[in-house]
Formats: sequence, structure tokens, C-alpha cells
Amino acid sequence: MSQALPPRRANKTSIATVSLSGTLLDKLEAAARIGFDAVEIFENDLLTCGETPATIRQAVEDLGLEISIYQPFRDFEAMPDPIRARNLDRAERKFDVMQALGTDLVLVCSNVQAAAIDDDARAAADLAEMAERAARRGLRVGYEALAWGRNVQRWSQAWRIVEQAAHPALGLIVDSFHTLALGDSSAGLAQLPGERIFFLQMADAPRLSMDVLSWSRHFRNFPGQGDLPVASFLRDVLASGYAGPISLEIFNDDVRAAPAPISARDGLRSIAWVTAEAGVAAQPAPPVFDGVEFIEFAVDGTAAAALASFLRQLGFRHAGSHRSKAVELYRQGRVNLVLNAEPDSAALEHFEMHGASVCALALRVDDAARAVHRATAMLSPEWREQIGEGERAIPAVRAPDGTLVYLVGPDPSGRSIWEDDFVLFPDASDDAAMNVDHIAHALPPGRMDNYVLFWRAVFGLQPAQLYELPDPFGLIRSRAMLSADGTLRLPLNISESRDTGTGRVITAMSGAGVHHVALDTADIFATLASLRAQGAPLLTIPANYYDDLAARFALSDERLAELQAANLLYDRDEAGEFLHAYTAGFQDRFYFEIVQRVDGYAGFGAANAPTRMAAQLAERQARSPYL
Ligand code: MG
Ligand code: MG
Repeated sequence: MSQALPPRRANKTSIATVSLSGTLLDKLEAAARIGFDAVEIFENDLLTCGETPATIRQAVEDLGLEISIYQPFRDFEAMPDPIRARNLDRAERKFDVMQALGTDLVLVCSNVQAAAIDDDARAAADLAEMAERAARRGLRVGYEALAWGRNVQRWSQAWRIVEQAAHPALGLIVDSFHTLALGDSSAGLAQLPGERIFFLQMADAPRLSMDVLSWSRHFRNFPGQGDLPVASFLRDVLASGYAGPISLEIFNDDVRAAPAPISARDGLRSIAWVTAEAGVAAQPAPPVFDGVEFIEFAVDGTAAAALASFLRQLGFRHAGSHRSKAVELYRQGRVNLVLNAEPDSAALEHFEMHGASVCALALRVDDAARAVHRATAMLSPEWREQIGEGERAIPAVRAPDGTLVYLVGPDPSGRSIWEDDFVLFPDASDDAAMNVDHIAHALPPGRMDNYVLFWRAVFGLQPAQLYELPDPFGLIRSRAMLSADGTLRLPLNISESRDTGTGRVITAMSGAGVHHVALDTADIFATLASLRAQGAPLLTIPANYYDDLAARFALSDERLAELQAANLLYDRDEAGEFLHAYTAGFQDRFYFEIVQRVDGYAGFGAANAPTRMAAQLAERQARSPYL
């Protein structure tokens, strides 16, 4: 792939073993296979593994990795005697381990002990002594300010101590989490002499209001998965001339539980993303989107017939048949839904694993080739579907759950993909101004950050505010990924409970999947009246909802009656209004939402989610009263 070379030699990539699950050997294997250059050996991973340091050194070498650092060495500096002397002995023992491992750098994090003396000169003298002993063995010491250190919490304090110690084998270690969690500025890092920064650790985190130690131990995540200004932090560190590794140090409950290969991919992807964001690595720009070209459902013959009749009740018409495959097109306005029942296809494989469900999305982009280059750079290589003779090859990448994401660019020939591959049935009556408004996904527990990073890095979508939505049987956390112009909207929903709407979708589909598709119409009252006339199964909203609506918004009695008669939900933000209604589920797997956005309303009606979820439960109970 031809790409402009980065203006500087790329920093090596590294990941702390604590950020990957499994045994130490599993962690090394996962880091090597995805392509990391180095690993930080987290001491506890070594202590709990049955292998000797020499064996680990050999394994690291055989995998083509390096050990970038040994960490952490805790509670060392500024202790009263006799602890001071014991700490120096302790350091010598760790130097033995480092030499057996074949690494030359140790991370000393600022002391958290109550006994630590608040005296920079003492800290500097102790660290200089440790550095002197390290230097005798050809080793180095890096000093990192922990955000919850007893006397040293900020990088500027740690730097002052390193400067005062004035030993060439002692340098500074910076960690984005410890700096940004305190709201501290990273700007001054750009002014440091880069060779005095011995190591750089990167972590992001969601904005939470809690004590910084718990925040750090449980909620750090990979750059791009959280809310901290990690790209500008990186830019400042690299502006100093720092040429060492960019290393990831994540402590996170979900990452601890995720398979190591998934976290390793997220980790390397996060470095690709953050270096591009920081402007230090040249990457193709993410696509500019122009909506959704089609949504493809994997079905078999029986499910195809059932889904086709459901779609007809929703106003879709059979608009075409594939020239050579068991693939049918249903269309309404600009919304194209494809039902794929082709044997020997990725769709069939998807159907066999997940049942009737969305197996592919096709997004209209400004430049499909650039979108593929971008995806490849973000560790999502191009995926090519098997095609028949004369059929159009549409480039695609795969989402973390395997769903295909097709990239449809403008075609210079002026022919649509439908004209090439389908026999289209003419129909002049389709004047519905219908569009895809949003496509909501249900994700398995623990995978929100994985999907956020995929859509953010590969496609440049931005995460919106996180909502917590009460379902009758548990909590659902929801966060939408949005394109820059706001036209591509993908809400991601996750639930720890198996009994919530989201949990049941995960069970029904054996994994992640699309749980609703929202269609935007210009006149929702007319659309719903016509759907009702066609027998569409729409959810009934309880009367109490409208009483409360009258209290929340100043709506006239006529307006309320009109909303209630149409079973419409209502919301409003600073910009405008949102009217929406829901269908019953298709085989309890997915459903459709009909929406109308008025004057640039930006949300998804989150305030109405509990009402919708209770109405869905009532609808299920009406069918099975003993549920
Ligand atoms: Mg750290
Ligand atoms: Mg929705």
C-alpha cells in the first residue's frame, strides 16, 4: 500500500502484560501475533507463572518481541532508615531478575506509604543511589508519579526530583492516565529534553467521578475508548523528542476478562488511532458518509417468507431479485433491505450461527478505496465476498462480531449496484420519503469499548453521551457512535442481565447483533396510519405515559390526544422534537422503529426507553400470558 511515510521514525509499540488475560505465555503470544514490538513485564505475571525468568526471556526472543520494561517497583524513595537500606537490597534483587529477563529498565512509581518522608532532596538522593547501583550493571531506572502517591502525584514533581538526582541512569516515566486523571496539563512535557524521558505509558478512561485509585484499577481503557485528551498528551510527549516505545498500561475489569487476542488487537489499533489523531503518523482520513445503502438480513427460505410479509406490513415492496442468487430486495423510499437466503454464502454461515438477523450493512462513502486503506491501517483488513461472474465486487471490512460492513463509493459509470446485480421491478408509486435513521446494536457484556474503538478508529465515528436505561429486568447501558455530520448513527447497547431486551437479543442471536433499525419519515402520522391500515404490529403505549408527558412538556390537549391515538412517543431537546413509534419484534430478535426528527433533534428518545421496554414486555405477555 502506498502511503506517505510518517515524518519521523515510528516509536516502537509495547503493551503491559497486565493488560492481557491468560498466563504470561498466553499474553506474550497474543502480543506477538498481532504485531507489538515489545511487552512490559508486570511483576505479578512473572511471580505467578511457573517459568523461570530465563525461559520467559527465551520465549520473548523466540516470538520476536523485546521486554521494554520491568514494572512496578513500589514504595522505594524517601523512606526512613532502616527501610531505606532494605529497599536498596530489594532493588538489587530486582536487578538480578531484570538481568535474567534481559531488560535494562525498571519502573519505580512514587511512594504511597504513610511513612514516606515529604522531602524532594531525600527522594532524589535515594533514586540517585538506586540509579548508581543500576548503572553498575548496565541498567536504568525510570521514576513515575502515581496520581495517588503520598508526596509525589504530578509529572512535574517527579521531573524536579529526577533533575535534582542528576544521574544519567535515572529518567522520567510519564503515564497519560496519571496526568490526565488529575486534570493536570501535559503541555510542559513538550519542553523536556526527550532523552530524559525514559518511558511513555498510555491509557484512556471514561470520565467518572470516583476516587482516582479505583478509577485507575478498574476503568482505564485503551486510547480512543475513553474521554481523556490522550492525543494531545501524546503530541506533547513526542514533541520533547522522546523516541522510546509507546506502551499501553490498562487495568480494566472487562479487559481482564476478554480473550487476549481481542485486547491485543484493540491495543495495537488504539496506538494506530492515537498516533493518527496526534498527527504523528500519516493515515488515510476516515470516510465521509452519505447514509446507508442497504441492510442485509441472513435468512433461510422460511424466514425469508416470514420477514417479507413483516416488511410488506411496514410499507416495503418487493423491488428486485438478484440475477443469480436467492437474494431479494425490499425497498421503501431510500431504504433498501436485502434478504439473503443464498446457499453456500457468508449469509448462510451467519444464519446458521445466529438465525434470522442482520449479516451486513452497506454504507455510502465518499471514497471506498481510501476507506479500505484507512480500515487496513486500523487493523481491519479488506474482506472480499465470493461473487458471481459480472457481479459488482463491493469492498468490505468485518465488524468485531463478523458482520460485514460494505463500503459503497460513488460510481463513475453512474450505474447503481442494483442495476448491475439485480433484476428490478418497476414501481412508480414509491414516493415514500423514508431513510435509515439509526441502526442499534446489542453487544455482549464487556464488549462496549471494543466496538467503540472499532467504529471510532476504522470509520472516524465519535462516541456520544452514555445513557443508563432501566429495562423491567435490568439495566441497559447505551452509547451512540455518530459520524461527524451526524447522519450515520449507530447506538450500541449492552446489558449484564440476560433477561433485559438487550440480553435476550444476545441470547437469541448467540452474540452481538442489530436489535432495531429506525426508519425516518417526513410525516410520521401519515406513515403510521398507513402502516396500521396494512396490519403492521405496532406497540401500544400505556395511558400513564401521556399523563406524564403533559407534566413534562407544555403540550396542548389536542396534541397529546393525537400522540396517544397514534401510540407515539415524544421527546424534545434544545434544537427540536422527536416523534417515534415501535413495531413488535420479528421472532423476538429485532424490530423496527419509525421516527420523525423535527428541527435537528439530535438524540434517540432515551427518556422514553423504559416506556418502550415495558410496552415490549406487555406485548410479549399478551402473546404468552404466563411469561
Ligand atoms: Mg503507569
Ligand atoms: Mg432507537
